[in-house]
Amino acid sequence: MKKDAQLSRRQVISGLSASLAVAAAGSVLGAEAATRPGDAMAAPLSDPTTAYPKPPYKSQKQPWPGLTSQMDPVPDHGEKSYKGSGRLKGRKALITGGDSGMGRAAAIAYAREGADVAINYLPAEEADAKEVIALIKAAGQKGVALPGDLRDEAFCQKLVADAVRQLGGLDILVSNAARQQTHESILDLTTEQFDWTMKTNIYAPFWLIKAALPHLKPGSAIIGTSSVQATEPSANLYDYAQTKAATTSFVRSLAKQLGPKGIRVNGVAPGPIWTPLQVSGGATQESLVKFGGDTPLGRAGQPAELAGIYVLLADPLASYANGQIYGSAGGDGLP
Ligand code: NAD
Ligand code: MG
Repeated sequence: MKKDAQLSRRQVISGLSASLAVAAAGSVLGAEAATRPGDAMAAPLSDPTTAYPKPPYKSQKQPWPGLTSQMDPVPDHGEKSYKGSGRLKGRKALITGGDSGMGRAAAIAYAREGADVAINYLPAEEADAKEVIALIKAAGQKGVALPGDLRDEAFCQKLVADAVRQLGGLDILVSNAARQQTHESILDLTTEQFDWTMKTNIYAPFWLIKAALPHLKPGSAIIGTSSVQATEPSANLYDYAQTKAATTSFVRSLAKQLGPKGIRVNGVAPGPIWTPLQVSGGATQESLVKFGGDTPLGRAGQPAELAGIYVLLADPLASYANGQIYGSAGGDGLP
């Protein structure tokens, strides 16, 4: 009783001082003075159907793996918008494909939430990666650049070892890198191309997780990037779609295996998101110009719009989420 009474008095006092602080800020800011705690933080309502560019998009093609800086429009990864609040303070994260797309959005958000971040990417993506490292450092965190090709088991092992050494440990692994190329017919798909997709999307996460596991303590999180393709495969993504079904499956299997060790495993299933993967062979030009136009939101998603999901899945606030796939597809497609 006494403790409750003390607590409620403390809550009243802190609530009061927050109101006073907000009221003081309001008087400085003028007309729109906020009167309740939290009001000053509220972002203005924004309509998701008009928040970002809509199709038709410009037809454009880059050689694989593509650069985000050369896309038109340049994707939004939250560079100017993501605000952290210490949700991942002191955490150490390794993100594959951290130079662009969803991996870059996660890297920026993690750093602004207080995590040190290592990113992996292909050497051809150095220009994109440099920008991400600068953004991580601007957030006051350690940013580690670890380029290399994930199709090589020895490299995957070295990548994890280097990340652990340079970050001083590891407690978040985001296995996000992937290869996606369209082929109209299974007859056009060579064994070499099939193998490239399998090595990048299925073998690399297997090698990375095996290497990371001995370093992951209870409370750590593994996050995979799956896709709506896992459950609703496109005709021209025969090889890619099955790797995403494999990703969803490994998340659910490993969650059962690692849950008892206190390590959570979850996945994100994006729909059509505006990233280099799509302009470097991942989509046909025909589907690129109307990308995401048939979703209820009427446009492609931007990587920044998924950053909060990657944060949530690493955050202890979601400590009972395990073995889940979180969709982000504008209302079309299943996780
Ligand atoms: P992206 O091109 O920005 O990111 C993919 C990254 O994978 C590249 O930046 C590259 O660094 C990395 N990569 C590819 N092959 C590699 C290799 N052999 N070695 C090392 N790194 C390699 O595109 P994105 O769309 O942000 O892709 C991120 C994840 O999102 C992927 O798993 C993809 O399958 C998934 N996804 C994307 C969409 C979409 O519409 N963009 C939809 C569903 C799922
Ligand atoms: Mg890239």
